[in-house]
Amino acid sequence: MVFADAGAQEPVARGEEPGEWCGQCGLTLADGDHGRCARRAELEPPRFCVHCRRRMKVQVTPGAWTAACVAHGTVERSTWA
Ligand SMILES: [Zn+2]
Ligand SMILES: [Zn+2]
Repeated sequence: MVFADAGAQEPVARGEEPGEWCGQCGLTLADGDHGRCARRAELEPPRFCVHCRRRMKVQVTPGAWTAACVAHGTVERSTWA
């Protein structure tokens, strides 16, 4: 998924990039063990933006989920196995 807006000054659509926060538990990835979070993340959408720790706006549909941060864009995953 690419947002092709060449004139944009602000970096947006960073939702797919690795961040510093855990999207599942909301703690910093440098602190603690997030092994369980990683497994849960395979099944469930993130609750927190990995870039800014904002609450994500999550939508679940049959076949996919999307999690949106107002600052960093949307992450989307298909849930079809
Ligand atoms: Zn975690
Ligand atoms: Zn964010």
